[in-house]
Amino acid sequence: MLSTNTRARIPYGRQTIGDDDVAAVVDVLRGEWLTTGPTVARFEDALCCVTDAKHAIAFANGTAALHASMWAAGIGAGDRVVTSPLSFAASATCATYVGATPAFVDIDSRTLNLDPKLVGACDALVAVHYAGLPVDLAAVPTRPRVIVEDAAHALGARTPDGPVGNCARSDMCVFSFHPVKAITTGEGGAVTTNSDEYAQRLRQFRSHGIVPRPDAAGEGGWYYEVETLGYNYRITDVQCALGVSQLAKLSRFITRRHELAERYHALLADLPVQLPPAAPAGSRHGHHIFPVRVPERRRVYDDMQAAGIGVQVHYVPIYRHPLYRDLALSCSDFPETERAYRGLLSLPLYPSLTDEEQDRVVDTLRAALHA
Ligand SMILES: *Cc1c(COP(=O)(O)O)cnc(C)c1O
Repeated sequence: MLSTNTRARIPYGRQTIGDDDVAAVVDVLRGEWLTTGPTVARFEDALCCVTDAKHAIAFANGTAALHASMWAAGIGAGDRVVTSPLSFAASATCATYVGATPAFVDIDSRTLNLDPKLVGACDALVAVHYAGLPVDLAAVPTRPRVIVEDAAHALGARTPDGPVGNCARSDMCVFSFHPVKAITTGEGGAVTTNSDEYAQRLRQFRSHGIVPRPDAAGEGGWYYEVETLGYNYRITDVQCALGVSQLAKLSRFITRRHELAERYHALLADLPVQLPPAAPAGSRHGHHIFPVRVPERRRVYDDMQAAGIGVQVHYVPIYRHPLYRDLALSCSDFPETERAYRGLLSLPLYPSLTDEEQDRVVDTLRAALHA
């Protein structure tokens, strides 16, 4: 019998790549276009189909897409942008990139999302759908000027208003296609929106702030102008070939994530761990991660890592990062976030995780908890 240490490591998340994905990428490599060509447009069309949004604009990564959403909405110096402290830093740095000031409200201990009732006066809200559970945007007391959903965890999730990404209660919705997310393009991201104006600004920002001006007086077909400060935030046709192929499998991926989440709920029922909430009736969870809350988190983390189970903590609360020390925020202002952070541990969850591997995760957790 193999000892635990020689068995394959199980990560907390990973991509699921099939031969069809490989063939799709090879096809594009043999073709005419490598960077922004017809496959970027095909991927954007496919994203519109999945989300029911009018426009989808694909980016080099999710962080670039968040940055672009802030700029497109005209958020800048002097603006206050509220987000969840229990998120990846990019949910806040997107505000900092454009000169705005991030602010945080405490989480709802039940959903682990920011508590929508606490969202006070602000210029923009970056609403993170933590773990893939959609934030209840209907519960925000007063709609801020701009609402951007950070749906990096929530491609394939639904609310009573329809698919996440349809922007029913937001201006823009941002996705990430990093390998641990619902689908991957290697690195990649996108913004969906129903606004023609935002769509045009997002495309301009993605490509150096350039606007073609072939009709400018005395000029010709070559002529363009750099109208604003943009970036090279483009994604490639090669990446989008993978994206189109992956997106066709999204519902299968999410179905498997749901099966695994249900299995975790059954297998962990008798252990002293707090399980993550299910989606309310009429909604569909994205199940990007499976964050449980455990006692003695440090020891459980170390024991599981030593046994080859790549558990992770989502997240170090953003106000704790030295980047934001000037905001002079105190952990004591976010009691629910701190309470959750102390116990959080994400267990492996990805479509190709087998039942046997999941059993090994649960057995290892049981041993670590001495339960
Ligand atoms: C992954 C992630 C991002 C950033 O996406 P990248 O594609 O890695 O830049 C932003 N917000 C959240 C909540 C994420 O999980």
